[in-house]
Amino acid sequence: MFTLMGHGVGTDIIIGKAWVNMYFSGLEFRYAEISEVEITSEIDRLRRAIKMLDEEFEEISASLKNAKTGDFGNLLDSHRLIVNDPLLVVETEKRIAESLINAECALVRQLDYIVEQFSKISNPYFQERKIDVEQIVGQLVKKLTLLDQIEKPKSPRSKLAGKDGTGWICLSDEISINEIPKFMQNGIKGFAIESGSPTSHLATLFKSLEIPAILGLQEHNQLVEHGERVILDSESGVLLAGFDNYILAEYEERIKKGVQKKRELKVFVNLPCQTKNGVDISLMANIENTVEAIKANEIGVSGIGLFRTEFLFLEKNKILSEDEQFEAYKRVAEVLNPLPVVIRTLDLGADKLLSSLSSKFTKDFNPALGQRGIRFSLENPDFFKVQINAILRASKFGNIKIMLPLITEKEEVIKAKQLIYQSLRNVSKKYCFDLITPPIGAMIEVPSAAIAIESLIPHIDFASLGTNDLIQYTLAIDRTNNRVSHLYNPGHPAVQFLIENVIKACIKEQCPVSICGELANDIRQTSKFLKMGLREVSANVSDILKMKEAISKIEL
Ligand code: PEP
Ligand code: MG
Repeated sequence: MFTLMGHGVGTDIIIGKAWVNMYFSGLEFRYAEISEVEITSEIDRLRRAIKMLDEEFEEISASLKNAKTGDFGNLLDSHRLIVNDPLLVVETEKRIAESLINAECALVRQLDYIVEQFSKISNPYFQERKIDVEQIVGQLVKKLTLLDQIEKPKSPRSKLAGKDGTGWICLSDEISINEIPKFMQNGIKGFAIESGSPTSHLATLFKSLEIPAILGLQEHNQLVEHGERVILDSESGVLLAGFDNYILAEYEERIKKGVQKKRELKVFVNLPCQTKNGVDISLMANIENTVEAIKANEIGVSGIGLFRTEFLFLEKNKILSEDEQFEAYKRVAEVLNPLPVVIRTLDLGADKLLSSLSSKFTKDFNPALGQRGIRFSLENPDFFKVQINAILRASKFGNIKIMLPLITEKEEVIKAKQLIYQSLRNVSKKYCFDLITPPIGAMIEVPSAAIAIESLIPHIDFASLGTNDLIQYTLAIDRTNNRVSHLYNPGHPAVQFLIENVIKACIKEQCPVSICGELANDIRQTSKFLKMGLREVSANVSDILKMKEAISKIEL
C-alpha cells in the first residue's frame, strides 16, 4: 500500500476507481466504460470511424489528382499514413480491450502517449507530426460522434460511474473550474489534483458542490493505475492505493461513523446559534448558486453572508444576461426572505476566468495582482451595470445587500456607488419601481483596506473580512500555488493584527462587520474573533451545523 498526501477539501471519505485524467481532457469527448462483451463492437466502431476519415482523405486526394497541389497533397498523404498507422490503430484497439473504455477515450489516451514520446525528441519534424496526430485524433473523435448519431444505438452507452456500484475518483495534474461540471456529469465522485491549494477558488467550488477532494497532491504519475481502487480521505488529504482488506474495512467503518455524525448534527437545524452563555451569533452562509441557497435555508442560517456571483457565470461558462442574473438573484432573495442576502458583485479574474470572457481580460502576467474584482467592474462599467440592474430588480423580492470585492481604497467605493445610483435611477424609471438603495458594503481582503479601515468606514454600510485573500496578500502567498501553501498561516501576527484592527475599528464606529473567508469555518480562529466582539460569521453551507455545534460550546 502507498499513500499520496495533499490538502484535503471536505470531510468525507470515498472509495472508488481511479480515473487518471489525461492532458487532452480539453478535447470534447464522451467518457464511457464498456463491458467485455462490448469490446468487439467498440473496436468495430473505431475501425468504421477510421475508414470514414480515410475515405474522406482519399476522395479529396482523388479530386485534386490533376491539380498542382504541392504541399497540400503531401499533407494529405501524411495524414493518411497516420490514420492507418499501427501505433495509433492497433494500440488504441488494445487500450479498448485492456482498459474496457470506449473508443474516444482510448484514442485520447493513446494520443497522450504518442505526444509524450514525441515531446522527448527535439527534432522539429516530430514536433510537426505531433500536431498532425492531435488533429487526426480530433477528427476521429468527431467521426465517432457522427457514427452514433447516424446509427442511433439502441441503448445509451453507460456512464463512467454506477455500473458496478462504485464511483470514480479523478486524478489529474491540473483541472480548470469550468471542467468540473463535465466530469460530474460523467459520474466522477471526487478529485485528487496536483495543483491548487485549500483556499484556491477550485477548493471553494468543491466545497460548495460538496465534492470530496484533495488539492496539491503529490505527483501520482506512474504510481496509480487507471481503474485501480483508491481511497480518498478529504478530511486529512490522503489518497491511498494498493491497500488490503483490513485497511478497506477500517475506512468503511470511518465512512459509517461520518454518516452517523452528520445525522447527530441535524439536531442543530432547529436551534438558534448561541454561545454556551446565551450570546446570539448571526451564523450566515457562503453560497455560489440557488441550490446552495435552498440548502442553507433548510439547515437554518441567519442569512447569506456571501453570494459569490461569479460562479453562476463559471458554471455556465458564459456571460449571463441581465434577465438571467435577475432570475438567479430573485430566487435566492425569495428563498431567504426576510433574511438578508449579501450579493457580492463579480469577482472574476485571477484563477476565476471564463474562456468566453478572455477578450475582455488581458492576460495579466501576475493575475492575483492584476485586474480582478472591483478593478474589472470599474474598467468595464457597462458590464458592471448589467449586474447591478439585475441585483436592484431582485431587491424587490427580498432583503438584498450589495458587497464590493477587492476594495483597496475609498475612491473605488465612491466610484462604484456612483454607478449603482445611476442604475437605481434607470431601473426605477424603466420598471416604475419605487426602489431604495440597498446597503452597500466592502470586502476587506486587501491589507491596505484592513490597515486604512477607518478611511473606508464612512463610505460603507458594512464590512466583511475575506481572509483567503487577506492572507494571500499579507503573507505574499499565491492561493493557487501548492508549493507555497504550507506557508499559509492564519495565526501569523500580521494577519491577526489586521483582523483585530478591522473588527475593533468597525465596532467602534458601529459599522456591522462579519468574516466570510475560510477562517470563518475554523472554530479555533472564530472563537478568538468572537471574543474580540465579532458577532457575524459567514461559513460554507457544509460547515454550518458543525459551526453551530462548536459555537454552542464556547463561552464569551
Ligand atoms: C476571501 O477572499 O476570503 C473570500 C471570501 O473571497 P474569495 O474566496 O471568493 O476570493
Ligand atoms: Mg476574496
